[in-house]
Amino acid sequence: MSGTVVILLGAPGAGKGTQAVRLAEELALPHVSTGDLFRENLSRGTELGQKAKGYMSRGKLVPDELVIDMLFDRVGQSDCARGYLLDGFPRTTGQADTLGVRLSDEFGVIVIEIAVDDSTIVERITGRLSCKDGHVHHRTFSPPRAEGVCDMCGSELYQREDDTEVVVTKRLAEYDAQTAPLVAYYEEQGVLCTVDGRQAPDEVFEACKGCLGAEA
Ligand code: AMP
Repeated sequence: MSGTVVILLGAPGAGKGTQAVRLAEELALPHVSTGDLFRENLSRGTELGQKAKGYMSRGKLVPDELVIDMLFDRVGQSDCARGYLLDGFPRTTGQADTLGVRLSDEFGVIVIEIAVDDSTIVERITGRLSCKDGHVHHRTFSPPRAEGVCDMCGSELYQREDDTEVVVTKRLAEYDAQTAPLVAYYEEQGVLCTVDGRQAPDEVFEACKGCLGAEA
């Protein structure tokens, strides 16, 4: 096998982004977040960004056909040749089927589910502060050293438009309806490893590394 694709599954706010940044560094693989790719498109004012905007601000999933082309453009780049870490993709069985077909046998797949209950999620998301490079802080649980500035990269911190309680509730409903079935989907394929996402970030990280086994 010449590469590894790590898929992080979990509801919004489960800690996928936080763990993805750390795991990507640990494995020296690129972190590919479809949410970040959409937000980049939005800030550059591209046609794709315009099309995705309405879905994102309503807490809905962007249609598969828009997501899939964008994702495969990204993972077709040379830095992904040895593998990559997927954060926020796949989110539907259609996306998972397409990924399965497109991935050659050269890639081993490891799926890490970060499991967290809904009430913890709402508390986490509504206090979340993000930066343009995909790092996250929390107003109470991991405040930045200087207000409004990311500790990791010095970029400006902001609250995502879809991180309000009203939109989070809709995103959780989308997760339950469309994405949660992927847990059983990957369990059947024998590639699923579930970690308890209610623990502190360092403990979740150790558990994620445990899922990687000999790959890490
Ligand atoms: P995230 O940053 O992963 O929470 O994604 C933010 C928003 O982008 C989601 O609520 C969706 O509207 C959209 N999005 C990101 N990834 C996907 C995906 N794989 N499929 C559909 N919509 C997505």
